[in-house]
Amino acid sequence: MNLGEVSWREAAEAEASVALLPTGSTEQHGPHLPLETDSLAAEAFAAGAAERSADAVCLPSVEVGVSREHAAFDGSLWVSPDVFRGYVREVLDSASRWFDAAVAVNGHGGNVTALQEVCAGLTRDEALLATEWTWWNALDRDDMGHAGKLETSLILYLSDVRCPPEDGVEAWGRYVEGSQVAYDVEEWSEDGVVGAASEASVELGEELYREGVESLERLVDELADEL
Ligand SMILES: [Zn+2]
Repeated sequence: MNLGEVSWREAAEAEASVALLPTGSTEQHGPHLPLETDSLAAEAFAAGAAERSADAVCLPSVEVGVSREHAAFDGSLWVSPDVFRGYVREVLDSASRWFDAAVAVNGHGGNVTALQEVCAGLTRDEALLATEWTWWNALDRDDMGHAGKLETSLILYLSDVRCPPEDGVEAWGRYVEGSQVAYDVEEWSEDGVVGAASEASVELGEELYREGVESLERLVDELADEL
């Protein structure tokens, strides 16, 4: 069920106990992917799981996230971690009136720490049992990059690319002895791409999407069982 599409009477009759909140970003994803890439991914996984599981409901998305690192690239938007945490916390707190558990279904790496903090707080306060699910972590893919092979494949499957994908630099960030020494993307990448975007395929995108929805559905089942 998609919460925004039903009436309040239909919402009242629904049996869903687990709210899925898609959290994405509006930020550069190289020359070939749309700014809404992370939001598109989060929404698609949440909608897919909510379609398959009667226990799950998909909430409206949070489409601007913690993305200050992309500020040098045109069109990128961001909010501070404080504002993001506060907004997500209040949205999920209001959802706790109707639902007993929540998953922040996340498509943006910069949101992860903030979401973990918010979910831990809501769970400790017994508002609802909350956790975050970030798609590439759930699929155990450590070759994520940015607008690279995985993300480009997913968007090829879910939507469209703007121009032929070209490979970017090999690694995200700059580190010395394991310590981060640069914080903004333009310091290590000219076009915002990290990874082998040219190796992307619609077949891989479909596989990632299917595996992600299945993973999220298993998480929903587990949470519903614990309630
Ligand atoms: Zn992304």
